[in-house]
Amino acid sequence: MERFVRFDTADGVRWGILGEGHITEITGNPALGYEMTDTHHQPSQIKLLAPVQPSKIVCVGLNYREHVKESQSATKEPDEPVLFLKPPSALIGPGEKIVYPEMAQRVDYEAELGVIIGRECSQVAEVEAEDFIFGFTCVNDVTARDLQKKDVQWTRAKGFDTFCPAGPWLVDKIKYGDLLVESYLNGELKQSSRTSMMIFPVPFLISFISKVMTLYPGDLISTGTPAGIAPMQVGDRIEVRIEGIGSLANDIA
Ligand code: MG
Repeated sequence: MERFVRFDTADGVRWGILGEGHITEITGNPALGYEMTDTHHQPSQIKLLAPVQPSKIVCVGLNYREHVKESQSATKEPDEPVLFLKPPSALIGPGEKIVYPEMAQRVDYEAELGVIIGRECSQVAEVEAEDFIFGFTCVNDVTARDLQKKDVQWTRAKGFDTFCPAGPWLVDKIKYGDLLVESYLNGELKQSSRTSMMIFPVPFLISFISKVMTLYPGDLISTGTPAGIAPMQVGDRIEVRIEGIGSLANDIA
C-alpha cells in the first residue's frame, strides 16, 4: 500500500509518495505510471493539493439507504445509480477553504469515498471492474441544498468552485468494501456509516458508469454519502474521515 500525495513546490506541482516523515518525489502521474526520484521533501514544508487530476468527477446520489430516507429529492430507493457530474474546477485540497457562494442559502457537507480509476474503462463487467481501480481518497461532495431543490438539475448546486475537497492523499490497494466513513463538523460527529452499507457497491458503480461514459486514468468517482447531512456556516471546520485512508479537513470562508 502506498500513499500518493500531490503538492506545490517552488518548481511547480509534483507528485510524491508519503513515507515515514518524508515525501519521495515521483515522476509523472501515479495513475499513469511513475518512477521514484532521489528528491525528498519534509511534509511540514509543503502544501498538499487534491491528489487527483480527473478529466471528470462522476458522483453517485442516494447510494446509502439511511440517506435516501432523510433526502427530500427522493421518496424511494433508486433502482439504478443516480449519476451527476462535478466539474474538476471544483477540486480543492486538504486545508484549502470552501467558499460559501453568495447565491446559496444552505450549503451542506457530504462525506464520501472517492475511487480513482487506473486505466481506461469502457463497458466493463462488474466482475472485472476492480481491475480498473487505482486507489481511494476522501471526498466532500459539498452541495448548495437550496439550489439543488430549485434548479432540479444539480450542476450549479454541486459545481461551485471549491465544492469538491479531496484528499489528504490517494491510497492504493486497500480493502474498500467495509470502511468506516465519518464526518465531523467543528469536531462533532455528524455522519458515521460503512461502505458496506452502499446500495450499489463500488464494482457495480464502475461497471454501470463505464456503460455510460468512458472512464480515463485519474478520473474520480464519488460514491455517495451516508445519512447525517446538515448545513455548514462560514467559520466552520468540516472533516471527512475514512478508515484506512485518513482525514480531510477544510474550513468554510
Ligand atoms: Mg453526494
